[in-house]
Amino acid sequence: MATSLLHVPPPQGLLQPLVVPERLLLGPGPSNVPSRIQAAGGRQLLGHMHPEVLQVMDEIKAGIQYAFQTQNQLTLAISGSGHCAMEAALVNLLECGDTILVAINGIWGQRAADIARRLGMLGAARWHGRAEGTGFVGRMPECEPWLAGLVQHKPSVLFITHGESSTGVLQPLEGLGELCHRHGCLLLVDAVASLGGAPIFMDQQEIDVLYSGSQKVLNSPPGTAPISFSERARKKLLSRKTKPKSFYLDMDCLASYWGCDGEPRRYHHTAPINSFFSLREGLAMLAEIGLENSWEQHQANCASLCQGLLSLGLEPFVKEEKVRLPTITTVRVPEGYNWKDITAFLIDKHAIEIAGGLGPTVDKVLRIGLMGCNSTRENVNRVLRALQDALSSCHRSRL
Ligand code: PMP
Repeated sequence: MATSLLHVPPPQGLLQPLVVPERLLLGPGPSNVPSRIQAAGGRQLLGHMHPEVLQVMDEIKAGIQYAFQTQNQLTLAISGSGHCAMEAALVNLLECGDTILVAINGIWGQRAADIARRLGMLGAARWHGRAEGTGFVGRMPECEPWLAGLVQHKPSVLFITHGESSTGVLQPLEGLGELCHRHGCLLLVDAVASLGGAPIFMDQQEIDVLYSGSQKVLNSPPGTAPISFSERARKKLLSRKTKPKSFYLDMDCLASYWGCDGEPRRYHHTAPINSFFSLREGLAMLAEIGLENSWEQHQANCASLCQGLLSLGLEPFVKEEKVRLPTITTVRVPEGYNWKDITAFLIDKHAIEIAGGLGPTVDKVLRIGLMGCNSTRENVNRVLRALQDALSSCHRSRL
């Protein structure tokens, strides 16, 4: 019998129906996908070179230009998550002999330094901020150690995270691009956690490479990542002596597939077409709401969440209000509690996801995300009620 040839039986789990419970995702991402975006992702497939798909890609490109506030032609969505865009930026910008200066104000700088090291940037200069509280924020670009780092290491790229989702800090960027350019350095910014939730102006702030992710404020499924390169960054790509070490993430090939070079489009890889449909709708919803309204909405809901947390006796991790990331709020784990008890309680009893700390904030904080359609007054009230319930049920002395 044919089946006697099989040493591995069909998995029992796969013979059961798919289980996906209803859950309010108020962690640091992904955030919930509204039905319009879900429906877009569920549409019938088309071929990855069909004109209708190429049209959707053009619309995505225009949506990213709006969200980033840039006119850059080299603007597209990477077929991969935020990490993939980070890797795409680094693998294209850096080649042997280059130095990168990485501002480490949480986990994302650590990741960028790790990727740079893997790319052979043995001399990658790392520049540590404080993880607690405010990291680098509050330092004006003209002040030490910004300037000192640029003068001392003469990097060709400075990496910094705009919205540090591990600490809940929003890094001011004013003047930084200009300072980098005065020192012959490109500015690379991670806006995965902040795009659409906090102002960023790629062209005006002279950012050379900016990237984000689909699954936070854009409320789309994870797996696509907006990215854009300035003219200065494009020149750096053109002056490379060697090809980037990744074929999949080679911007030259991607620019061609995305029609950024004015040439007929060339196949590069089979894109995640349905994810592009979703991303298109996520960007469309942001365009309909308008960036300024979206920033305001995130700011207002973050402020009322912080007010509510204070009135529950909880302490915000980021002291200075003006540098709180409006999309992800960090709050200290209250004394007498284990954060895991609180997050598990919220899932079990309230079907709400919030998260513990990450990297430098592990065991120290709880992280509550209010992003895109999830940033509502109703969700603020829901999570505060759930936390109040958790505080009266999860105290260790009661267990
Ligand atoms: N950068 C920041 C600031 C993030 O918050 C995240 C995701 N939490 C990433 C990068 C990585 O994105 P992804 O998980 O989509 O790879």
